[in-house]
This record gives sequence, structure tokens and C-alpha cells, in this order.
Amino acid sequence: MNKSQVLVLGGGPAGGAVAIGLVRLGYSVTLVSEPRPFDAVEGISDRVVQGLQGAGFNLALEQMAEPSPRRVTWNGITSAANTERLIPRQAFDLALLDDLKAQGTHVIQGRVTGIQPDATGHVAEVSLVSGEQLQLQGDFLVEARGRAAPAAGVPRVKGSQTVSLLQYWQGPADTPCSAVQSFADGWAWMALRADGRRYLQLTLDVASADLPPKRELGDWCQARLSKLEQAQPFMAGAEPAGEVYARTSTPVLCEHSVGNNWIRVGDAAMAVDPLSGNGIFQALSSALQAPAVINTLINHPERAGLAKQFHEARIEGLFYRFARIGRDFYAQESQWPTNPFWQGRSQWPDQVPLHLDVMPDQVSTGVRPVVQDGLIREAQVVITPDQPLGIWHLNGLELAPLLEQVRARPDLTPAEQLSHTQGPVMGERLALWMQQQGWV
Ligand code: FAD
Repeated sequence: MNKSQVLVLGGGPAGGAVAIGLVRLGYSVTLVSEPRPFDAVEGISDRVVQGLQGAGFNLALEQMAEPSPRRVTWNGITSAANTERLIPRQAFDLALLDDLKAQGTHVIQGRVTGIQPDATGHVAEVSLVSGEQLQLQGDFLVEARGRAAPAAGVPRVKGSQTVSLLQYWQGPADTPCSAVQSFADGWAWMALRADGRRYLQLTLDVASADLPPKRELGDWCQARLSKLEQAQPFMAGAEPAGEVYARTSTPVLCEHSVGNNWIRVGDAAMAVDPLSGNGIFQALSSALQAPAVINTLINHPERAGLAKQFHEARIEGLFYRFARIGRDFYAQESQWPTNPFWQGRSQWPDQVPLHLDVMPDQVSTGVRPVVQDGLIREAQVVITPDQPLGIWHLNGLELAPLLEQVRARPDLTPAEQLSHTQGPVMGERLALWMQQQGWV
């Protein structure tokens, strides 16, 4: 058992993934989380299910519904080719805490009200549901409280200020489904669960939406939704149940997400627009490698710079990748090009294409931080315009030496050259793969 005590604040997918990863590395982990203050339904793809399985969230996955049909009306065109799985977030997050307990994390359900640095680490002040106050000491702190994580004084990159207004409606039990529709100054997402609960969400620009006072929000949302064709099946025979809840959905990136004895993961490090529907996937992606970063910071302080560089480059890379996915979705809607909602979002964060064509003369090899055996170390990798953080290996085969081998003999074809060390069948396959990547 590693002697360091790690304190994780927040038990969503990101905090949960870090806690499980650290326990697997032999750390003693205490995680503090309070239930989210509002229920929310979110949609995920099968790719995210695989990520959740890989992270060890077995009980949480039981909360997930089977894939259900999703209708999309975007740029005036309706399609019904997609499916998504609907997750009730409150139940999912509670089951996630059960997963953590079952796998060795000490879970405390309570609200973190303050963090103080002390001589060896951090002290978290926690208020329990019983009203009792606790002080928890940790040598290393993982900030995973999502968008609620305090960020005063943290330099941040932000996109257009965006708010999502959500409300439950209740109607008769029905077959689960969801729908998306764009409109002149925003977009709506609607979901129907088997028990007849309907979840209606409007996403709008904070500056230009001209929102009414809070007490009028319910009627205001209803009036907006009633004009949307895709919302009709969700509203028919149903009634609003409960208040409108406003969720901030502005894209945000913390420019510093790791120090010697703390790290930010998930939405606490970077959060993007919900349009890309990738929030949980991206929270997991930012968290899965964090245990190796933490392990390195604790056990190999001489590699602290490398570990920090690795984490911050990954967070930034993920943020811009998902921000550009969002931008390209927004740009596909061309009916209201001068409306501030669409104008800003279809051009932010930049004009860099999501996928760059790779030409052999843009491909190089170099040293970059990589994860090996639960630690960050340096390795020779292949660097391309599309993969600036580098590609280390393919199914266990280190690629940089193989690319250098190909380049050393321009008189031979890549397949001939690779066959020398990998045999003819593997040599052919690797050469074809490198050609498909644009490396040779
Ligand atoms: P969270 O899941 O937010 O977890 C943080 C945890 O910390 C929560 O349990 C919270 O209660 C707890 N916490 C907060 N403060 C404290 C405190 N002081 N003390 C103790 N505990 C605390 N993603 C998708 O994949 N699909 C979608 O359809 C989707 N729709 C979205 C719609 C909207 C409007 C928004 C805003 C986001 C949406 N997302 C969606 C994104 C997704 O919700 C997040 O990206 C993801 O949950 C982030 O995971 P996390 O672990 O970083 O944080």
C-alpha cells in the first residue's frame, strides 16, 4: 500500500475514475461528494458505455437504459438514424458511489465547504447531511467537483456564455426516445423515459436571450417549446413537474490544471458545450490517465515537470478537440447566420479543421511524455499535425523506431523495409497502416 493519502472532491465520472485508478495503484483514497442538487437526464453513445466499463463503473452501468431512437431537426432537415442511451444522472451518480465503495475507496457523502493548504497537503472542511462537520487531511488533492469547483483566481479560456434551462414534465408511460431541434436563437433537447418522465432542455445565449425573471421562466420555456415541432410529442398529454433549473453550459478551460500536490480533472479542468454530447466521455478521458500523473508527482518528484506537461497538454488537447466538434455542429446550421447565438458559436474557438490531412513531410519523431506501468516517463513517439502529443505504439509495437527504419532506406518500399524486422505479413500490414495515416 502506498502511504500517501489522496483526497478526491466530487464523485462524478471524473472523480470516480481517478479514485478507482488510484486504488488500483495501491493508494488509500477518500472521496467526498454530495448528490447533485437537481436531477438530469443525459444521453450517451455506446463508445461512452465502453469507457465506463473500462473505468470499472459496473453498478452505475446498470442504471443505463437500452439505446433509444433520437430524431434530429437541424438546418431544416429531420433525420431519425441515430440512437442514444439515456442516463438518469442522480441514480447513476449514486450507483457510481457504490462502485467506488465496492472497489476500496472510502466514500463520504457530504458537502465540501472549504479547502485549506497545510504543511503536508490539504485539509478539506466537510459538512455532513447530519449537520456534523468533518476535517479531512490529504497529502494530494483531486478537484473533481465538476462545474461547481471553485475557480476564483484560476486563469481560464471561455467560450460564449451559454445557459441550459431544463424542466421535467410528467405524462403517461411510453417508449423511450429523444429529439434535438435547432431554432433561431438556440437549440432544444428532449428526452422521454419509460415511466413517462419527460426532460425538456433549451440551450440559449446568456447575453442575447432576454430571459424573464425566475418566476416567469416556466411559462416562458413552455411558450418557446410549444413552437418546436420536435417538442410536441414530448409535451402532448403531459404537464410540467417542478421548477425550471438553469445549468451553465459555457465552454471553459482552466489554463493550469495541476500542481505538485493537486490536480483538476473532468469538468473542473475543462468543460465544453453540451451540443457535442460528449461531456461524460471527455470527463473520463481527462481522468483516466490522471492516476499515473499523481503517482509520478508523489513518487518521482524529479519528473514533476514532465507529469504536469503531460496532464495540461492532454486537457488542452481534449478541450480544443471537443470545442471544434461543437463548432462544426453549429456551423451545419445555416438558417440564422447573423443571430448572435449561431454566429459566435459556429466560429469559436478558431478556424482550425477538426481533422488535418497528414503529409509525410509533416511527420516527425521526438520525445514526449507517455504513461507506462502507472507512471509518466519519456518515450520516442511519432508526431503529426493531427497528433501533436505523439503516438507511441500500436498494439504494443513502438512506432517511432519503425518509422525511422522506413525512412532510413528510401530505395526500398515501406513494406520491404518493415518485413526485415516484422516478417512479410506484419510488414505489409504496418506499411499499409502507415500509408493510411499519411506517414509514408
Ligand atoms: P460531475 O459529473 O458534475 O460531478 C461532480 C460531482 O461533484 C457531482 O456529484 C456534484 O454533486 C459534486 N459536488 C459539487 N460540488 C460539491 C461540493 N462542494 N462538495 C461535494 N460534492 C460536490 N454529457 C454527456 O455525455 N451527455 C449529455 O447529454 C450531456 N448533457 C449535458 C447537458 C448540460 C446542460 C450540461 C451543462 C452538461 C451536459 N453533459 C452531458 C456534460 C456532463 O454532465 C459532464 O461533462 C460530466 O458529468 C462531467 O463529469 P465530472 O465528473 O467532471 O463532474
